[in-house]
Amino acid sequence: MSTSPQPPAIEIRGLTKSYGDTVALRGVDLTLQEGQFYGLLGPNGAGKSTTINILTGLVRREGGTSTVFGRDTEKDFRFTRAQIGIAAQELSVDWFFPLERLLRFQAGYYGIPYAQARPRIEMLLKKLGLWGKRTEKLRNLSGGMKRRFQLAKALVHDPKIIILDEPTAGVDVELRRELWDYLRELHSEGKTILLTTHYIEEAELLCETVSIIDNGKVIKKGTPRDLIRNLGTAGMTVHLNGWDDNLNELLKEYTFTREEYRLHFSIQHPEEAMPRIITILARHGCTIQSVKTNQSTLEDVFISLTGKGINE
Ligand code: ADP
Repeated sequence: MSTSPQPPAIEIRGLTKSYGDTVALRGVDLTLQEGQFYGLLGPNGAGKSTTINILTGLVRREGGTSTVFGRDTEKDFRFTRAQIGIAAQELSVDWFFPLERLLRFQAGYYGIPYAQARPRIEMLLKKLGLWGKRTEKLRNLSGGMKRRFQLAKALVHDPKIIILDEPTAGVDVELRRELWDYLRELHSEGKTILLTTHYIEEAELLCETVSIIDNGKVIKKGTPRDLIRNLGTAGMTVHLNGWDDNLNELLKEYTFTREEYRLHFSIQHPEEAMPRIITILARHGCTIQSVKTNQSTLEDVFISLTGKGINE
């Protein structure tokens, strides 16, 4: 194992920010090692965009530190900004230009000569299914195409870190899958990806690590699996062919409701609880007709942590 101390791709410590009386960040910590696929999950107003905007130099932090590959995002702005490609939520000034030209501008912004940028622009437009639209103005594209264009724009200078702010908001299911596939491909090439989303499914499918942010603070961090395992509750329905009131006592440590011979359990740590419940029932001589389970999702975790759904 290598012991050389590689600085993390992104490291944020105690980040704070207010806009007037509104406190947006109350001490956010976040570390992304190079090559990680990381999700920042939180409801509207949680502080996701502010965090990202500080990383890319769009917003000035108040307190705390933010570094990219060990270098300060304010003092070393040119270096750190060049490491990041960002697909933001909105495009403002780009509407009236053809796609290919916009990507050329973007390459120019990073000092990449056109001769060098051209094959990459062609590759990206083809890869993202936009080659046929390269002379179209951005405003004439569909919503899904605009999203893909944002990704192309983020990737023009071949950054090591890709930040995606709600990449699939408002995108139809099929395109969402295509974008996911492409993000997985970028991840397999070793890119570091930071994704904000309030599609829990997206975070669960793509991200290795997730931080849940609420009200300007990271309230939980872990792999989606661990978060679900540690915090989620799962449901299990056991259908018996009879009922005996003694079972109330035997099952008293579990939360369940009964509809005649059907028992609906709500359990934490399902891996341990499910076999134990079945064992108790079987030892008591119950005949089990069927067992159905429903696994909890990150959405359940989110609700149990914040007391609200992510889209509320
Ligand atoms: P998210 O991206 O998670 O929706 P934001 O970082 O956009 O959250 O917002 C965090 C908080 O800061 C919210 O209360 C939001 O209203 C406020 N906020 C964000 N940007 C501004 C701004 N430019 N001026 C005033 N308040 C802002």
